[in-house]
Formats: sequence, C-alpha cells, structure tokens
Amino acid sequence: AQERYASIREKKCVTLCGQRIELHMNAGLMADLPSLEGSGAEGVGLFRTELQFLIRAQMPRRSELSSLYARVLDAAQGKPVVFRTLDIGSDKVLPYMKTIDEPNPALGWRAIRVGLDKPGVMRMQLQALLRAACGRDLHIMFPFVAQYEEYTRARAEVDKTLAREARLGHTLPDKLRVGAMLETPSLAFAPIQFFRDVEFISIGGNDLKQFFFAADRENELVRRRYDTLNVSFLSFIERIVERCDATNTPLSFCGEDAGRPVEALCFAAIGLRSLSMRPASIGPVKSLLMRCDLREVRKVIHDARHRGAQSVRPAVMDWLRENAG
Ligand code: PEP
Ligand code: MG
Repeated sequence: AQERYASIREKKCVTLCGQRIELHMNAGLMADLPSLEGSGAEGVGLFRTELQFLIRAQMPRRSELSSLYARVLDAAQGKPVVFRTLDIGSDKVLPYMKTIDEPNPALGWRAIRVGLDKPGVMRMQLQALLRAACGRDLHIMFPFVAQYEEYTRARAEVDKTLAREARLGHTLPDKLRVGAMLETPSLAFAPIQFFRDVEFISIGGNDLKQFFFAADRENELVRRRYDTLNVSFLSFIERIVERCDATNTPLSFCGEDAGRPVEALCFAAIGLRSLSMRPASIGPVKSLLMRCDLREVRKVIHDARHRGAQSVRPAVMDWLRENAG
C-alpha cells in the first residue's frame, strides 16, 4: 500500500490552501522504526513504552531500557521521538507486577496514577530516557493526566532525575521537552496555567473519546456508537485547540482517528497542525490533505453544526465527492 503513495513520501504535507500539517507516526517496538523512512513520517509522535515491558517475563533493567531507547533515537536519525512513559495498570497488566482487582479498570489505578503513587519504576524509566538521549533532544510525555497537579508532580520527578544525573556526571539531553497526553475531559478545562506550563500536549483520542461519550473503547456493543465527527466531540477538540493557541502550546492528536483521512481532514480544518498515526496511514492522510482547502472544510463543518446536524460526516463526505474526488 505504501507503494501507492511513494511519489508523495518525501513531500511535506501542505494543504491546497497552503497550511503545513505535520504527520508523525505511532510506534512501540524496535521493529516499528524502519517505517519511519518507509512512511515518510516526520518523527515518532507517540512511542508507547509499555510494549517493551509487556513483552518481557520480568521487569527490564535500567541499562537495558537505556540502550533500547538509545537505539530508538539512533534509528530516528535526528527526527523527534516522543516517548510516552509507562501506560500500564487496569487492562495492561505486567505479568511480574502484583495485580489488583478493580471494578472499572479503565477508570482505575493506571498510567501516571501508578507512576506517582509508586514512583520507583517511573524514576528508573526517566533515568533510562535521560541517559539514552545523552546530548540529543528528548521529548517525554506523561499519559492519562487528569489534573494540573499530576503534571507538575511528574515534571518535578523529571527535574529531580535531571539534577541527579548531572551530579553523577552524565551528559544531559540537549533540549528536553516535557508534555502531557490530554485523554481525560477534565484536563481540557484545567487552569490556563497548566497550558502555559506544559511544553506540549498530545490528544489521546482513543481514551478521550471513550470518556467523553462514556462508551467503552473495548466494548463491541458501544465502541462504534458515537461518531468521532459528532458535533459535540469536534467542538470539544476545537476548544482544546483554542486554549493551546492562546498559550502557544504545541498540540498534536495521536489517537487512532488521526489515521483516518476524513477525520484527519476535519481535525486539520478545526486547527490541529500535527497528527500522529500508524505508519500505513501517513500516505492516505497526506494524499487527501494535499487536495483540500481547509477553509472550505471548516465552513462545511460550521454550516453542518449550525443546521443542527448530529455529525458533520455526511456534509464533509458530500463536499469531498464534489471537490476532492
Ligand atoms: C489514546 O488513548 O488515544 C492513545 C493514543 O493511547 P492508547 O491508545 O495507548 O491508550
Ligand atoms: Mg490512551
């Protein structure tokens, strides 16, 4: 399938109206890295570090992690890689960690909640990341941040680890950026200081959508019930874009929906400038975006909303048939 898009692989994604949109890829294993070149992605917008923990029989050692992360950065050859710290707990249980029984694991003790309550593993992972970067740029992103204070506490852990590494005489990363995933609706309404403090935000649409509509992403009975292009959800994303624009906070979207061309187009039309997706989606998304005028799509979205449509999809599809066929 990537052959089909080979002619645009080396091209930057610029829409018909001249808007530049960054397209990054999601990854989690060493084996994903060759796709960075094959897909034409500009970087890794989401590196899911838990996969390395899930494929092992015991807790990896810091030195192993650090050499693994260094190899990821080597393979990226200077393209940015956003490492998401461990997103485990609830359904993603590590075989070597004590399990707890939770009535609603998706709403339970997971991700940064575990990281802050039991910081040992998080500190080890942060140290491994800092050592791997050693003089290079590093992006660290915390998953499942629900309130400002969780970000500041996690950030304080990064700063403590940085100071310790400096004391030990290790070379620090050149530039370090610390960001948060926005995947709980509460964070969208955090104090504006959060948006000023955080160095970048990535919308985790898979989780954000499940919590927005109260519809379990794993449950076949409901997971396709609400359209991502539902006007409520799009307005919500637009609100996040506005808050990030007002504070100059770099924003991207890294849920699976970013890899669906029509969804990606609508996200770009409401102001997202960076999308991260599975590598095979980069070609199709780029191809569509390059044929569209975002100002027109934005108008189609706003008109549909004004008319009281439930989803903007039918209107956008009609527009696409006439204008980007
Ligand atoms: C998300 O929630 O959209 C996301 C990118 O993270 P994950 O799918 O790993 O939960
Ligand atoms: Mg998530």
